[in-house]
Amino acid sequence: MLIKQLFKIRHNVYLDNNATTQVSSAVVRKMNRVLRRNFGNPSSLYKAAINSAIILDESRAIVAKTIQADPSEIYFTGSATEANNNIIKTLAEHHYPAKNKIISTPLEHASVISTLEYLAGKGFVIEYIPVDIKGRINMDALSAMIDPSTILVCCMLANNETGVIQDVKLAAKIAHDKQVPVFSDCVQALGKIPVNVKDLDIDYASISAHKIHGPKGAGALYVKNGNFISSFIHGGHQENGLRAGTESLHNIAGLAEACKSVSHYLGKAKKIESLKKYFIRELKKIKPDIIINSPEDSTCLSNTVNIVFPGVNNAYLMATLDYFGMAVSAGSACNTQSNEPSHVLKALFISDQQARESIRFSLGTGISRFQISYVLEVIRQFVNGELPPIGMLEPKMLSKEMIFDNNTFIVDVRFWHDRLLIKSIPNAHEISFFSYKKYFKHIPKEKNVILVCQTGFNAPIVAYEMKLRGFKNVSFLMLGIVGWKQANPALYESYAGTNVQKLQA
Ligand code: PLP
Repeated sequence: MLIKQLFKIRHNVYLDNNATTQVSSAVVRKMNRVLRRNFGNPSSLYKAAINSAIILDESRAIVAKTIQADPSEIYFTGSATEANNNIIKTLAEHHYPAKNKIISTPLEHASVISTLEYLAGKGFVIEYIPVDIKGRINMDALSAMIDPSTILVCCMLANNETGVIQDVKLAAKIAHDKQVPVFSDCVQALGKIPVNVKDLDIDYASISAHKIHGPKGAGALYVKNGNFISSFIHGGHQENGLRAGTESLHNIAGLAEACKSVSHYLGKAKKIESLKKYFIRELKKIKPDIIINSPEDSTCLSNTVNIVFPGVNNAYLMATLDYFGMAVSAGSACNTQSNEPSHVLKALFISDQQARESIRFSLGTGISRFQISYVLEVIRQFVNGELPPIGMLEPKMLSKEMIFDNNTFIVDVRFWHDRLLIKSIPNAHEISFFSYKKYFKHIPKEKNVILVCQTGFNAPIVAYEMKLRGFKNVSFLMLGIVGWKQANPALYESYAGTNVQKLQA
C-alpha cells in the first residue's frame, strides 16, 4: 500500500549515466579548493605556481595509477574527444604516405568514427572489423585485415550505446603479432570494469572525467612509453610540449579526484548488475516482446541495457518517462538533418524501425531497487494505456488539409540553429523549447495543437506537459520536420516556411 502511494509521487531517477554522471561531492570540494587556492600558473617559478605544479604532478600520478600506467605516459586533454581525434590524426599523418590504412570497429564513438571519416576524405583507407549480432568483433577477420599498410587498430573497450565489451587484449595480441599498434577508447569502461593498460597491452588509450563523476571538459590520453606521439596543440611547453595551453588545473584535479573513486565504483558493479537483471526480468513480464540489443552475459557492462520496445515510439516513451522524472537516452540518436538511426544500432543489424523503438538505460552507482520499481511501474502504466495519451502523427498524416484546417494550431519548438537548416511547417508558431511553459497561455486550449521539432524528440516532451495541463487535443509530429520534409517533398517545396510566426512569451 505504502509502495503504491510512493509510486504516485514523482521521483527523479537518472538512468543516463553513459551520457554523463553527477559530479561527486569529493570532486566538487577538490575543484573548489583548487579554484580558490591554486590560481598560480604551473609553469611559473614562485611558491604559488609551484603549488599548482605539485597538484598537476600529483593528479598525473593518480590518473596513471588508476589505469596501471606510468605518470610519464599520461597527457591531460580537454576531453576524450580531443584525445581520440589527436592520437588518430597525428599517427595517420606521421605514417602517410608509406602506410595509409586504419582498422576499426563500426561501433566506435562519434569522436572516433567522424575522425576516421575525415581521414577517409583525405585518402586514407578505413576498414571496419565485422561484428556479431551483439557487436563483438570477429578476431579472425581482424587478423586477416591487417597488412603492411596498416597504421593502427582502433577498438573501444566498451560501447556507450549497448555496453558491449570487446576483447581488446586479444585484439592487441593479434595486432602486435603483426607489429601494428592499438588504440582503445576506454571512456565507458573506466569505473565499470577494470582498465589495466599494461594487462590489455595497448599502446594508446583515452578516458574522460565526466563519465566517472568528474567534471566535463577533462580527459586524458595514455601513450605507452616508447610509442609514437607528436605535438597535437602547438604553442607552449605544457604536457611535455605536446598539448600546449595553460593547464585547466581545477578540471585536472577533478579528474584525479574522480579517479580515486574508481575502485569504489568497481565494487558496486555486482549490485548494479543485479538491479539491471531485475529490471529486464520484470520488464519482460510487462512487455514480453521486448528485444534486448545488449549482450546478456559477461560481455556487457553491468550498468547498460539497450532495449527495443516493439510498437512504441521511443521519443514518446522518453517524453513520458521524462515527465515522471526519469532520464534515459534514445537508441537512435538522430542528427539534426537526417533521421538515420545511430551507426551502432545499424551495425547490429537492427532495422530503422526497431532503432526508433530503442531506448538505452544506463544505471548509476547510486541506483536503488525502489527506483527501478518506480521506472517499471511508469512503463507498465504507459504500456497498458493507463496514462493520458498524446497523439502521434506520422509525417504523411500531416497533410495540406490538416495544416490549413482552421482548427489546427502548429507549434514549432525547434532550436534556432535547427531552424536555419530546414524551413518550418506552414502556419507554424515558433516558441522556445527552453522556456516552453511561458507560451502556454498563448496557445488555444480548444484547438488541435500539433507540436513539431527537428527530428521528433523534443516535441513529445512539450506535448506531454500540455496534455497534463488541460490541453485537450495535443499531438506531436513523429520524426519531426526532417521526416515531414522527406515524406512530403512537394508540400515542403510549395509551402514550407510560409506564414510562420513567432509567439511572444
Ligand atoms: N568515447 C566514448 C565511448 C564516449 O561514450 C564518449 C562520451 O560520450 C566519448 C568518447 C567522448 O568523451 P568526451 O565527452 O570527454 O569528449
